[in-house]
Amino acid sequence: MKIGKPGITVENNTVVYRTEVESADGRRDLWFRVDAKYADLVTDSCDPALLGLLMPAMANGKDMHLSGPISERLYYNLSGPCQNAFRIVIPTLQQISIRPSELLSQGKPAPGVATGFSGGIDSFCVLADHFYSPDCPPGFRPTHLVFNNVGSHGHGADGERIFKGRYNRLAPFVERIGLPFVALGSNLDSFYIEELHFTRTHTPRNIAAALLLQGGIGRYLSASSTDYRAAALYESQYIASSESILIPLLASESMDILSVGHEYRRVDKTLKVADIPDSYEVLDVCVREGDRNCTDCKKCLRTTIALDIAGRLDNYSERFDLARYRAQRNKLLSRFLRKKTGRGILRGEVRALAKEYGWRVPLPARLRTWLYKAAYPVRYLHKLLKRTAKKILRKDNRPRG
Ligand SMILES: [Zn+2]
Repeated sequence: MKIGKPGITVENNTVVYRTEVESADGRRDLWFRVDAKYADLVTDSCDPALLGLLMPAMANGKDMHLSGPISERLYYNLSGPCQNAFRIVIPTLQQISIRPSELLSQGKPAPGVATGFSGGIDSFCVLADHFYSPDCPPGFRPTHLVFNNVGSHGHGADGERIFKGRYNRLAPFVERIGLPFVALGSNLDSFYIEELHFTRTHTPRNIAAALLLQGGIGRYLSASSTDYRAAALYESQYIASSESILIPLLASESMDILSVGHEYRRVDKTLKVADIPDSYEVLDVCVREGDRNCTDCKKCLRTTIALDIAGRLDNYSERFDLARYRAQRNKLLSRFLRKKTGRGILRGEVRALAKEYGWRVPLPARLRTWLYKAAYPVRYLHKLLKRTAKKILRKDNRPRG
């Protein structure tokens, strides 16, 4: 894979970082863009392209040849330890060589501090510790919030539309708290094949976008989505558990990158966020697209139940359908408690929180859970009969002769 020297241009009030990529699939451009007013944040190094395209190059087993300068530190970590870590998560990736034209061994981090902001529990928790808390040292207090489009909003034009819609919903809040809100668009997602889907690769994608801003941002706070108890490297469809191990390997001489918030359980983060009145009208935890949280998906459930146990749910009447939650509370509680979520950690956390608050799961919800478990042999037998009947029918329909 050959990566050209990046060019930076201004097009329609946006600053575009563009580099030509030549691979087995032909030639095309990788681009990132931000509003023209953030031009001074954009780097001219090859670091964003290097990290952003490393996994696609490893998937093809092709060495990377870079015509622009890259950070020496990033070169060192991405050549060895990082590729090994990626290959533990995705064993089909192959070790490749990185061949740069120039290494940058000196870099003075710029004074800016940034963090991604999606309106969810993890990013609000970063704000709780680094923006709302008076105890945060100035060098760790965000000067900019960033909203990326590197695959989390879906693919192609649909993803672009959802990205813009979500940004526009969050922008008035960010303006109110007085921070610049950088919308960072990119076509990076189009270089990732299905096997390298977003939940498996979001760490290098998001940090590549952060590295784009190292022209004016010297420290990036990456909001963790798991706590230290889950920290591990293993083959998985989810890269989140390896964040605390991987992210320190992705810093450059010009950008310090920290993975923050691993010290908290998810329920602790939820309650920290519940102390921020600003979150009452903005919190967005849902996996589904919409103006309001659906109050039905697994992320909505784990949040509403934790808030309910702590007696904080009423504050979020704008963000959740509380009438629906209350009408179906026993059903939803039973569904959450019997499902294996996050290797059982989240269920355990919610049970521990209930104990801390002296909160008992209501009897009808417990009965539902008990009945569901008791009916397991019946459901198993039903599935087995269905599968056998299908097999017999397939055999009968097979042409004879
Ligand atoms: Zn939802």
